[in-house]
Amino acid sequence: MADITVEFPDGKKKQFDAEATTKDVAQSIAISLAKKAVAGKLDGKLIDLNAPLKHDGKIEIVTKDSEDGLAVLRQSVALLTKVALKETFPSIQFGEEVGDADGFYVDTDKEDGQVSVDSLPAISDKVQAFIDQKLAIKHSRLSKADALKKLEGTSYEAKLVEDSDDEEFPFYEIDGVQVLASGVSFANTGDIKFFRLLSVAGAYFEGKSSNPMLQRIYGTAFYKQADLDADLQARQEAREHDHRVIGNDLDLFFVDPKAGAGLPYWMPNGATIRRTVERYIIDKEVADGYKHVYTPVLANLDLYKTSGHWAHYREDMFPPMDMGDGEMLELRPMNCPSHIQIYNHHIRSYRELPLRIAELGMMHRYEKSGALSGLQRVREMTLNDGHTFVALDQVQDEFKKILRLIMDVYKDFNINDYSFRLSYRDPENTEKYFDDDEMWNRSQTMLKGAMDDLGLDYYEAEGEAAFYGPKLDIQTKTALGNDETMSTIQLDFMLPDRFDLKYVGADGEDHRPVMIHRGIVGTMERFIAYLTEIYKGAFPTWLAPKQVKIIPVSDDKHGEYAESLNKQLLAAGVRAEVDHRGEKMNYLIRDAQTHKIPYTLVVGDQEMADKAVSVRKYGEQNSESMSADDFEKEVLKDIANYSNN
Ligand code: ATP
Ligand code: ZN
Repeated sequence: MADITVEFPDGKKKQFDAEATTKDVAQSIAISLAKKAVAGKLDGKLIDLNAPLKHDGKIEIVTKDSEDGLAVLRQSVALLTKVALKETFPSIQFGEEVGDADGFYVDTDKEDGQVSVDSLPAISDKVQAFIDQKLAIKHSRLSKADALKKLEGTSYEAKLVEDSDDEEFPFYEIDGVQVLASGVSFANTGDIKFFRLLSVAGAYFEGKSSNPMLQRIYGTAFYKQADLDADLQARQEAREHDHRVIGNDLDLFFVDPKAGAGLPYWMPNGATIRRTVERYIIDKEVADGYKHVYTPVLANLDLYKTSGHWAHYREDMFPPMDMGDGEMLELRPMNCPSHIQIYNHHIRSYRELPLRIAELGMMHRYEKSGALSGLQRVREMTLNDGHTFVALDQVQDEFKKILRLIMDVYKDFNINDYSFRLSYRDPENTEKYFDDDEMWNRSQTMLKGAMDDLGLDYYEAEGEAAFYGPKLDIQTKTALGNDETMSTIQLDFMLPDRFDLKYVGADGEDHRPVMIHRGIVGTMERFIAYLTEIYKGAFPTWLAPKQVKIIPVSDDKHGEYAESLNKQLLAAGVRAEVDHRGEKMNYLIRDAQTHKIPYTLVVGDQEMADKAVSVRKYGEQNSESMSADDFEKEVLKDIANYSNN
């Protein structure tokens, strides 16, 4: 066979026989490298360690300690899982399977039911048996026509091959069973070390909600036991904090892709938390001089042409609705133009400034479907929005006032871990950012000056500004340590210009106001996702959907007394509820704890005679007796103080 020339990442070249494999290449460099090698990458494409190279190209040796190395391991376990499934359920159909740096999954469907989490132990044992037997994994590649012939009678895999642009399709044979693969595998099952099948969840075929729902089996694998243990631990922690999991357990909200991806439904429990936050923030703002308004979510597209949203923000907007009579209506992606309408409705005087307009404003953004996540990133959201219109010499004071409000609110929610980011434009990106150097320099200097005045620490980030101006972002840490923008204060000289905003000054002349956009707790959706995660669903009393659960020792004997307590608490504004199910008391107490209810009251003969209650706080083992009136006072104090349990 003719020789081929391969080029290494450092640019050095070397000749090999055309039948040489990645393993041969690795061996020619160092035995130790060959030991660590699990696959090759020829011209950027993963290939089997033992596949002949056949042609010239740039080669990389993929080793265990790389992301590609993990992907190969996980792809191999995914294949073993497929074979184990096929041997267990001969009628099974497969959808996609993927092994990558995050783990692996295999999509399945079968005639007589579905694979469930209960099937996993048996499948896992079978995979382990393949590993123990150190079986060969035989590799072959078929043309599209041959692959389709082989996959005859399969519904999903044949479709995947048909839709693919690839010319060749890899199949691997283990234990006499041949399966289609989407990536590269080891050559022997004995090379697989530590794996775990994790869970089963529904997933639409090819990710489209118009396609059938398949069952997705998730798993992961590592080269070292310690790495697997650490990953399982991290997954467990993520699950305990995940607002989507907690949201389901506590019945807070749901999203149904069939009804609309990214469009959440708030169940009574979630709605109660949201209503509490909304009332809190409106009261706080009204006390701080804001005027709350309601404005429509739909407006004539021209409004967003004038504002510049149509030119600079169109990608994030829903397409306009053509009303057929020449009118185009647009779902707003931001509330600023609406509040400008309110400002412009009257002639404004300098005496009215700063004029603070606020709203819990619903808006719509066409986020990519892959980016949607529970309440954290949605397509319909309600922003705790506000715009203050100020004279130029009021900008810095107003900025400081808003910042004080933000920090005050954070204290009530017990949010302590945050940092300040000054977000500037990227001067190179004239497509995204309004092109006016003087405006940008002036407003960026103003923001920085205010922060320096306050003596607060901050960092600066280019390219994070809004298209109309720079901003101060207050970055919080999610329970899993990711940075997230919660609050924001943005200076804007542009929209006042574009909408020709004016106020009459003390001199009787027209002047241009400056606009400050601000959000205190951000959107209700993201804020409540955040609270759910930091509290792990154990909301402080003032936010908890149910604050008090009353359990009669015997529903027959004490149910009525429990009801009278309930009435007393409800009348005082406490969210109380009696558990009349009459189950064993310990079970009912445990159930109240599982639902993370801040107070559980148990009432029996003694309590009834004394007009008392036996109080158990969430997370505590002991209970305390007190009079019903004292308890009412305690819980009301707890609510009024925003106490953190
Ligand atoms: P992001 O960078 O997260 O997309 P953004 O910078 O576009 O946000 P702004 O236009 O400043 O966000 O919106 C104000 C607030 O709205 C943000 O602080 C954020 O908390 C929230 N928010 C933005 N997009 C979403 C979304 N898709 N779902 C839920 N909340 C959102
Ligand atoms: Zn705005």
